[in-house]
Formats: sequence, C-alpha cells, structure tokens
Amino acid sequence: MQVPSPFAYERASSVEHALQLLDSLGPEARLLAGGHSLLPMMKLRLANPEHLIDIDGLADELGYIREQDGEVRIGAMTRHRALLESELLASRLGIFADAERVIADPVVRNRGTIGGALCQADPAEDLSAVCAAVGARVVIRGPGGERVVDMHEFHRGPYETAVQDGEMVTEIRVPLVADSGSAYEKVERRVGDWAVAAAGASVRLEGGAIAAAGIALTAVGAGVTAPEAEAALVGNAPSDELFEQAARIAADGANPVGDQRGTAAYKRHAAAELTRRALRRATARALREEA
Ligand SMILES: Cc1cc2nc3c(=O)[nH]c(=O)nc-3n(C[C@H](O)[C@H](O)[C@H](O)COP(=O)(O)OP(=O)(O)OC[C@H]3O[C@@H](n4cnc5c(N)ncnc54)[C@H](O)[C@@H]3O)c2cc1C
Repeated sequence: MQVPSPFAYERASSVEHALQLLDSLGPEARLLAGGHSLLPMMKLRLANPEHLIDIDGLADELGYIREQDGEVRIGAMTRHRALLESELLASRLGIFADAERVIADPVVRNRGTIGGALCQADPAEDLSAVCAAVGARVVIRGPGGERVVDMHEFHRGPYETAVQDGEMVTEIRVPLVADSGSAYEKVERRVGDWAVAAAGASVRLEGGAIAAAGIALTAVGAGVTAPEAEAALVGNAPSDELFEQAARIAADGANPVGDQRGTAAYKRHAAAELTRRALRRATARALREEA
C-alpha cells in the first residue's frame, strides 16, 4: 500500500494553536512533526488519522538546545541533525552525538525530531534509550496545563507513551551532572539501519566509585532502563569485571525476538557486549580520558 487513507490537513502556528486544534478535532487527529515515522505508517495503513496537524511551523518555538537551571533543555521540534551538531551536547552529554551519528541518514536526520522519535516509541528507536540512560524528563502540555514526567513514566512500551489525547510533548530536560559521562553503542546491519541491538549508559563518579548509573537497551525487548544492572554498579570502583557483570544482568533482563536482524541469542549477546562498551566509554568520559 503506497497511498494513505484520505485525511484533512491543518497547520499549527503555535503550541497554543496546536493544542486548540487537538481539542477541537478530537482523538482521530494526529500531530505531524518530521513525518518520518507517521507518514510511512500511514502509507502502510497502519495509521489512519482523519486529521493531520502539521507542527513543522513550530520549529522556531520548539527547536532549541539550551542550558538552563542545571539542565540541558531540548525543544520537541529539535531535529536529529541539530542534536548531532550541538556543541553543548557534545561537551556534556556525549551519548547524544554517539546515537545521532548512527540514526538513519542525513535526509531523515534533517527532518526527524526528538519529540516525534520519543512519541513514536518504536522499540528499535534510539533516543528513548538515550534519554532514559541519562535520566531525562519529558514536558507534556495539554488543556489542563503542563506536567513533567521521567522516562519510566513516559515510555510505557512499544508505541505507547504517557501522552494522552489532546496533549503534546514540548520539551525534554536532561540533568547536567558533575563528574559524569555517557555513551551509546549500536550494532546495525548496514549504515543508517535500525538497531539490531543498542545500549546507552551513564555513570557518575564520586571518590573513585560509581555513585549513580543509568543503563537502557534498544531493540531487545527490554524495559526503559535496567535497574538491577544499575544497582550492581553503584558503590563499586569501575572495572571491566564490574561492567561485564552489570552488562550480563542487563542482557539477561531483556527479551529479544529473533527476526531478519538476528536470532534472539545473538541479540542478547550483542546487548551485553554493547552495554559493557557503553559503560567503559561513559566512565572514560567521566574521568576526562576520552572525548
Ligand atoms: C529510513 C528511516 C530510517 C530510520 N532509522 C532510524 C534509526 O536508525 N533510529 C531511530 O531512532 N530512528 C530512525 N528512524 C526514525 C526517525 O528517527 C524519525 O524521525 C522519528 O522516529 C520520528 O520523528 P518525526 O519527527 O519524523 O515524527 P513523526 O513521524 O512526525 O511523528 C511520529 C509520532 O509522534 C507523534 N508526535 C510527533 N511530535 C509530537 C509531539 N511534539 N508531541 C506529541 N506527539 C508527537 C506523531 O503524532 C506520530 O504519532 C528512521 C526513519 C526512517 C524513515
């Protein structure tokens, strides 16, 4: 199927306008950001919205990456390309550039947005794991005002998030933490492909030990983070043996499905190895040993 079902089209001129349109058009309306997930779904008739509300015109209002109140604040319409090229993210949160380098291709990165990626919640989508690993929070606006939820509450499973009818994501907030580092590792079949498996990690060091850690896996049927693996790290000095132990716990907690990208056993093995590598690189960055 190459042609979507018929739909009506509206262009929002501001966040308020988008919320008004969502309210007046009802639950059969969908926001259109970069369109790189929604339009293919519509062409395959997996999504059949009656109304599209194009929010591309909100790229100025919601397209920013800035430091504020000890956080990096990222507008929901920020494109993958801007995330890849941000000096602020590269210097403080290396995990974003790691992931963006291996998300799709320049055509998709020029249009696709962080808000669209998180709201699509595709199990093989990379930014949910990135945001979860660094303890990001998501700002959701609706008719009743604004609420801020962490990634555990936001990401409810494949294609399911905390965003309700009439609501939209406006911002992602990532805490800036001293003595910390983060990294993302991904295996793909070919350049620009979705992940076979991927892992994001962050660590905060204090007095030579790991004081806090975040681990999140992509495309292997795992929860939004791996709390038992994170707990295994805390209070211990970083070492390859420790990383291997935590990586094994994280991979054991995953539930990969065999498909054309690999067998379940291969994906679990890859998840463990990628977690180990992400932890090692995140720690090197926390120690300023690696950019
Ligand atoms: C060929 C190809 C390869 C790709 N490879 C990868 C990859 O390797 N890794 C990866 O992570 N992604 C990949 N993607 C997906 C890409 O990153 C998309 O850009 C992203 O998933 C969706 O962003 P978007 O802005 O295009 O969202 P859209 O397609 O416009 O929207 C997606 C969903 O989110 C909703 N939505 C959008 N914005 C908001 C908002 N602000 N508030 C509430 N709901 C909203 C929409 O209504 C829709 O349901 C690929 C896409 C393509 C086409």
